[in-house]
Amino acid sequence: MSQVEENTSLNFIEQIVEEDLANGKNDGVVYTRFPPEPNGFLHLGHAKSICLNFGLAQKYGGKTNLRFDDTNPVTEDTSYVDAIKEDVRWLGFEWEGETRYASDYFDKLYSLAVELIKRGKAFVDDTPVDEIRRMRGIPTQAGEESAFRDRSVEENLQLFEQMKAGDFSEGSRVLRAKIDMASPNMHLRDPIMYRILHRSHHRTGDAWHIYPTYDWAHGQSDAIENITHSICTLEFEVHRPLYDWFVEQIGEFDQEMVNPQPRQIEFARLNVNYTVMSKRKLLELVNEDYVNGWDDPRMPTIQGLRRRGYTPASLRNFAERVGVAKRDNVIDLSLLEFCIREDLNKTAPRVMGVLNPVKLVITNYPERQTEDLTIENNPEDAEGGTRTVPFSRELYIERDDFMEDPPKKFFRLGPGREVRLKGAYIIQCESFEKDTRGEITTIYATYDPATKSGEDTSGKKVKGTIHWVSVPHAVKAEVRLYNRLFSDPTPTDHTDENGEPIDYKKFINDKSLVVLDKVFVEPSMRKVSAFDRFQFMRKGYFCVDPDSSEENLVFNQTVTLRDSWAKAKKNN
Ligand code: ATP
Ligand code: MG
Repeated sequence: MSQVEENTSLNFIEQIVEEDLANGKNDGVVYTRFPPEPNGFLHLGHAKSICLNFGLAQKYGGKTNLRFDDTNPVTEDTSYVDAIKEDVRWLGFEWEGETRYASDYFDKLYSLAVELIKRGKAFVDDTPVDEIRRMRGIPTQAGEESAFRDRSVEENLQLFEQMKAGDFSEGSRVLRAKIDMASPNMHLRDPIMYRILHRSHHRTGDAWHIYPTYDWAHGQSDAIENITHSICTLEFEVHRPLYDWFVEQIGEFDQEMVNPQPRQIEFARLNVNYTVMSKRKLLELVNEDYVNGWDDPRMPTIQGLRRRGYTPASLRNFAERVGVAKRDNVIDLSLLEFCIREDLNKTAPRVMGVLNPVKLVITNYPERQTEDLTIENNPEDAEGGTRTVPFSRELYIERDDFMEDPPKKFFRLGPGREVRLKGAYIIQCESFEKDTRGEITTIYATYDPATKSGEDTSGKKVKGTIHWVSVPHAVKAEVRLYNRLFSDPTPTDHTDENGEPIDYKKFINDKSLVVLDKVFVEPSMRKVSAFDRFQFMRKGYFCVDPDSSEENLVFNQTVTLRDSWAKAKKNN
């Protein structure tokens, strides 16, 4: 990640890790994991977590597991598993050994639960779930103990086995840890460890009728995998005492499993303005057709960003710049855009594409003549090479590069004005034509043969350079321009006059997608492949859509250019 300024100070997680290493903890091993639930596609927040977990292991010579936390068969699916693996690899990371699954540990988790029952630390509760919730009480007041809390170990074992065998209906019983109904930490009030679900699981099929809760499965999965540093987001901070309690109980009979004890470290989840970052909300946008699927280029999903033209390096860079915080905050979308611009500025070949064309005729240029001009591919890349671009008498230029009555500071084309055509000649506008609606249809100009780029002997100076595409050689394309998905920086944060939350979907930006279907690009663009990225000079960065074909070229706008190229470069 060379683009990142050398950052010598450690973030707070690195400090903890270095402290552990200095103290000789875990024999100097750093073992992290990325634990997604396969119930949706990964988003930018997950990218942050991936970079953090894999990045730490890379920095300290450790390892990282990819583990699917697949404890909820209702919302999970194999298609998500495959997409998540692809996303992690695309970001540039490879996990240690086989892909892991919490479901691989269902047997182990079950036997641990049986052991807890035997030790009087867990019980089967017949209380309906709603009632259990009510009886938990509120943080400032003790909850009520279940009437089934003091069942005998034998009865608990018997019932738990029957739960497993599928003897009971969904919701009729749960297994709970027996901790403390008066604890100020609600998570310690006899939390649920297992619920009955007669559902097929995407990996274990119909083998199970009970499924572990996240709280029960997660910490134990970390322990089974010998994870040393279990990094998660802030909302799990209050769960930590529960995880520690489980480890303590298990340590009574299975020291090996809980050694090393995974050290949980919480950091603030990544939030970015003008978007939403929860799988549930993203799923809603897809299901309710606000966007065209999970990989819609407006989505903050890794697949959406990829289709938009983001590179893995730019996302890793973004994750690095965002840093890790202990408090919730909102990152500006422009930082993300900065990161991709910085990358593409160095790597994307420059081409000419006219998004909103108007015809320009060079009246003193011979009819039917074509010249092959040599233009460099990327002034920022010494090895970028050159390409030939055909020039002829009739060109397309941008409609807004011409003004009928331009102000003084308009350094582009207008009656009598001169500009340079990129890589070609200086031209002077002679006249123009309009149609009955007053729209300009054709601009006429003359060129000065002594002003050819690279061989200019005229001594002329002009302030503006514009891009163009030769009409007979032009390749037609569609360009999709994107804007922020939401018109409000924090769409999920609003309430109405009654204090009720306002649906974040009310803030969707109805101009988030603008399709330009009469774009012309230079002929070198005939040979592009999906995901190729270019800078359309003066217009921004664009990426070839995966559905694009030679007959129907489609480009997604990745990001605009920050500065007007016309001002920065002169007489080129
Ligand atoms: P969501 O709320 O979008 O559904 P999640 O936390 O439920 O996300 P998981 O699949 O459980 O999604 O998350 C996998 C890992 O990614 C977890 O370690 C989680 O903490 C981390 N993660 C999820 N969202 C973010 C985020 N916005 N910023 C940083 N890390 C995140
Ligand atoms: Mg989740």
